[in-house]
Amino acid sequence: MKVLIVYAHEEPNSFNGALKNTAIRTFEEGGHKVLVSDLYRMKFKAVADGEDFLERRDKHCLKRQIEEQAAGELGTLAHDIMEEQRKLRECDLLMLQFPLWWFSMPAILKGWVDRVMSMGFAYGRGQSYDTGGMKGRKAMLSITTGGPDFTYSPLGRNGDIEQILFPIQHGILYFCGFEVLPPHIAFSPAHATKEQRVKMLEGFRQRLSTLDRIQPIAFHPADHFDEHLQLKSEFQS
Ligand SMILES: Cc1cc2nc3c(=O)[nH]c(=O)nc-3n(C[C@H](O)[C@H](O)[C@H](O)COP(=O)(O)OP(=O)(O)OC[C@H]3O[C@@H](n4cnc5c(N)ncnc54)[C@H](O)[C@@H]3O)c2cc1C
Repeated sequence: MKVLIVYAHEEPNSFNGALKNTAIRTFEEGGHKVLVSDLYRMKFKAVADGEDFLERRDKHCLKRQIEEQAAGELGTLAHDIMEEQRKLRECDLLMLQFPLWWFSMPAILKGWVDRVMSMGFAYGRGQSYDTGGMKGRKAMLSITTGGPDFTYSPLGRNGDIEQILFPIQHGILYFCGFEVLPPHIAFSPAHATKEQRVKMLEGFRQRLSTLDRIQPIAFHPADHFDEHLQLKSEFQS
């Protein structure tokens, strides 16, 4: 299997860095090939703008999705976007490694999504969700939090972590066609003891070694929706 780890933490000695290194080691020991996009080290351009197109169809008014579609067909997307898309085409598993920031992802990673998951590549022309451009690939979040686990329960102060991650897991990954594996969440590593953190890394290693036995999240496929794109009654619970 080929794994692409997209890693978004500015500090190599962070716990996110340790999780990323654990993942690289574990996958390589399992005989898998690993590619890493270390976004801060790459100084990845996070802002989606007109410079993302080497040529423009319309030089007067930028309509991003139209330019994305055309540039994807002509091979005139910016070089860094095309390089990330090449890595995505090659991979069987995408892992996003990041700290939860404002109940979401750091801007540099959001920028990677905005720029790389372009129309005509990851979705478009009626292709989305279970027919999205990344169909046939798996994806998984590996995140850390500041808050402890009990604050991220359905009744906890921060709310249900599944709901917090829904925009990323469903709105980005599943929308683009990935089968989404349940996330790995290292809650509050900064408030754990060194021993607890070592155990967290070991738990992560074990989880990654058994990834092929983990079922994807059961998001609804297209045929669960009616002609108005509403969930059919038999699938409502
Ligand atoms: C802008 C911003 C927004 C945020 N929003 C949220 C939010 O919405 N919700 C929320 O819960 N939190 C939030 N946070 C907190 C953030 O999620 C946590 O600070 C982060 O997830 C912790 O991960 P880290 O990798 O930065 O930890 P670090 O602080 O880097 O690491 C924790 C500890 O692990 C140690 N460590 C590193 N490597 C190893 C190793 N190999 N073995 C053992 N120990 C090791 C480090 O030395 C450190 O002591 C936010 C933070 C910021 C800056």
